[in-house]
Amino acid sequence: MFDTLTDSFKNAIGKIRFHDDEKALKKALAELKKALLKSDVHHKVVKELIVTVEKETKAAGIGKESFMKALQDELVRILTAKGNQGFVFASRPPTVVLMTGLQGSGKTTTTGKLAYMLKEQKKKKVLIAAADLQRLAAVEQLRQIAEQIGVDLVADENATPDEVVKRALKKAEDELYDVVLIDTAGRLAIDEELMEELARIRDLAQPDEIFYVADAMTGMDAVRTAQTFKDKIGITGVILSKFDADSKGGVALGIAHQVGVPLRFIGSGEKMPDLEPFIPERITSRLMGAGDIEGLAEKTAAVIDEKTAKRVTQKIKKGKFNFNDFLEQMEQMKKLGSMKSLIGMIPGMGNMAKQLGDLDLENSKEVKHIKAMISSMTPKERENPDLLNNSRKRRIAQGAGLSQMEVNRVIKQFKNAAKMAKKLSGKGGMKQMQDLMK
Ligand code: GDP
Repeated sequence: MFDTLTDSFKNAIGKIRFHDDEKALKKALAELKKALLKSDVHHKVVKELIVTVEKETKAAGIGKESFMKALQDELVRILTAKGNQGFVFASRPPTVVLMTGLQGSGKTTTTGKLAYMLKEQKKKKVLIAAADLQRLAAVEQLRQIAEQIGVDLVADENATPDEVVKRALKKAEDELYDVVLIDTAGRLAIDEELMEELARIRDLAQPDEIFYVADAMTGMDAVRTAQTFKDKIGITGVILSKFDADSKGGVALGIAHQVGVPLRFIGSGEKMPDLEPFIPERITSRLMGAGDIEGLAEKTAAVIDEKTAKRVTQKIKKGKFNFNDFLEQMEQMKKLGSMKSLIGMIPGMGNMAKQLGDLDLENSKEVKHIKAMISSMTPKERENPDLLNNSRKRRIAQGAGLSQMEVNRVIKQFKNAAKMAKKLSGKGGMKQMQDLMK
C-alpha cells in the first residue's frame, strides 16, 4: 500500500532532520515534489501542496516537526472532500445504495464486502440486488458471495435489471431490510448505453447513495472515470478497490481533491473482510509511516467477540487450551482479513508488511495439517490433547492422510505453544516474552 510515497516522505523528512535552514527545506520540498509526481498525483495538486507546506513550515519555524505537521495537515486537507464519511444510514430504512463501476474494477466483490461489513459490524439486515445483467457470470459470482457471507439476494437471469430492482425494493419494504445494495451493470469502458441504463436505474431506485468503485491500480484513469460518473450519474462516494496492490497511492489524492467526491472505503485485499472506512486523518498517518492504531483497534473490536476472548485467555492461563479452542481462534482470525494490511496498521511495521508476502492463514500447509488432524479426532480428543497415545495417533494420521511423524510433530508443537502461552500469561510473562525476543 502506497509504499513508494511513504518511503519518499521518509526521505524528504530525512533531508530536514539535522538542519533547520532554508536550504534544507528546499531540498526536502524538492524530494517531496518528485515523490508525489512519481506517485501519480496530479501536478496541480502537487504544486498547491508544496506551496502550502513551504509557507506553513516557515511560519512555524523551519524544522523536522514543523515540516511534518505542515505535510500532515496538507495531506488531510487534500484527502478531505465535502460529503459523507463511511456509511451513512437513511433516516427511514431501507438505505438504498447503487453500486456502480467498470467491469473488472472490483464492483461485485466490493458489493459483497460492504454487505459483509454492514451485517457483521453494524448488525444490519442487508439485501443485495443482482442487477448487473450485462455480465451473466456476475450474477453467479454474487450468488456465491451472498451465500458465503449469509446475506439475502434477489437475482433472476431471465428478468430485466429494472424488474430485479423493483422486486428487491418491494422485498426490502415488505420484509424490513435495513439496507439494499444494488449491483449495477458494468462495461469495459464508459459508453452512452451504460450511462443511460444507470440513469434509468437511479431514477427508478431513488438511491440514498451512489457509490463508484474505482480500481486504484488504473491510476489517473480512475480519476478520469470517477469524474465522468460524477457528471453523468451524480455519484456521492468513491470506493477505491485494490488499494493493497497499488504501491503509488496518488489516486486517492486525485479523487478527493480533483473530482471532489469523498472517498468512503478502501479495498485492502481479495477477501470479504478486506474493506476499511476511508478516514483522511488515519490514511495520512499511514502514509507518513505512523500506522493506524485506531483503525486496527476498531477492526479487531468489531470481529473479536470479547466473551470468547476472555474464556480462551482463562483456558490458556490454566493450561487447558485445546484443539477446539484452536479452531475457534482460527475462525476469528479469518474475520480480520488480510494479515498484510493489518500489520501495516501497526506503527513502525509498514516496512515489515512490505516484506511479508500475504500470510494466508487458511491455506498455509501447517494450518491445513492441523485442520485435517483435528477433523480426524473424536470430540474427547479435541478437548484433551493429553489423551493422544500411540494408537490414537496412528488412527488420526491415517484419517488425515499424514505420516505418524507429521502428526507427532504437530502435536508437539501444539503442546509447546500451549505451554509457552500459559507461561506468558502468568506473572512476569511480559518480561519472559521480551527475553525471548532478544
Ligand atoms: P467486477 O467486474 O467489477 O465486478 O470485478 P470483480 O468484483 O469480479 O473483481 C475483479 C478482480 O479484482 C477479482 O479477482 C477480485 O478478487 C479482485 N479484487 C477486488 N477487490 C480487490 C481488492 O481490494 N484487492 C485486491 N487485491 N483484489 C481485489
